[in-house]
Amino acid sequence: MKKKLTSLAAIAALSAAMLAGCSSAAKLETKAEGAQKPILIQGPMPIEAEKFAERLDKVKVEKSGNFVFYKGKLDKYPVIVAKTGKGMENTAAATAIAIEKYDPAAIINQGTSGGHDPSLNVYDIVLGERTVNIGSLKTGHLEEGEGIEPTNWIPMDLMASEGSAGEDPDAEKIRYYDGDENLLAAANAVKDKHKKGKVVEGTIGSADLWNNEVDRINWFHENYGTSVEEMEGAAAAQIAGAYDVPFLGIRILSNNKTNGGQYDPNTAAANQDYVYEVVKQYISEIKGK
Ligand code: SAH
Repeated sequence: MKKKLTSLAAIAALSAAMLAGCSSAAKLETKAEGAQKPILIQGPMPIEAEKFAERLDKVKVEKSGNFVFYKGKLDKYPVIVAKTGKGMENTAAATAIAIEKYDPAAIINQGTSGGHDPSLNVYDIVLGERTVNIGSLKTGHLEEGEGIEPTNWIPMDLMASEGSAGEDPDAEKIRYYDGDENLLAAANAVKDKHKKGKVVEGTIGSADLWNNEVDRINWFHENYGTSVEEMEGAAAAQIAGAYDVPFLGIRILSNNKTNGGQYDPNTAAANQDYVYEVVKQYISEIKGK
């Protein structure tokens, strides 16, 4: 009976829209689906996306450029896993495309990372209370022959204004993207499901850069408060912010140069197992509303 009513309502809506001059039925379809906007889960590398995608029901694969979107269901709720490719540019583009195409309710960017905090070990997970671009820097003024002084570099906020970031003193600050409260709450609620390490809130730093200099890692840890570094989170956070889509970064440590933690690729799968629990929890909260 309920089904019949729904389809009758859909027909009524369709005719109303047609009368109102809405030309495309496709537009209406998106509207009807709008009641259940998908949750978008991003992973850069195959090992960081495919395990999650395999766990979805009724998966349809769609491609756009290099980007692969696995559209499926989790607990009957639409979830899209995106394999974005590595790095800031791929991630920014994949995020904008996904928002334009699928209108997600929320975005989780997840994968592996390198520790900046010596108290975090390989298999620990950082929930991005905030995410920050650690590649956006302005150098000091030095003349020819005066060398290179990276520890004097200062942060540069490209979103501070539409004017020159090189001249604008307002741009000389760190821009943090806050993790969404509801996503953080869902992630905290299932912390105990991750048995291979601890789950903490922290700061995720991103750049197209792999830091292996411990003094430099410590410099970011002290000046930016970074818990971990990776190559995607801040790009996704920036674009999600531009469209006002709730966002959270969730990163497992696959290595930690500050305490000798050796790279372990199996951490990627462990993070997806945990994020799966987070998404289930988030969906149950959406359904309960
Ligand atoms: N060792 C792998 C690394 C892949 S590149 C290889 O050679 O194939 C880095 C990817 O892992 C990025 O997607 C980044 O988000 C993540 N990553 C893990 N640890 C990192 C670290 N210490 N610094 C930067 N990125 C890191």
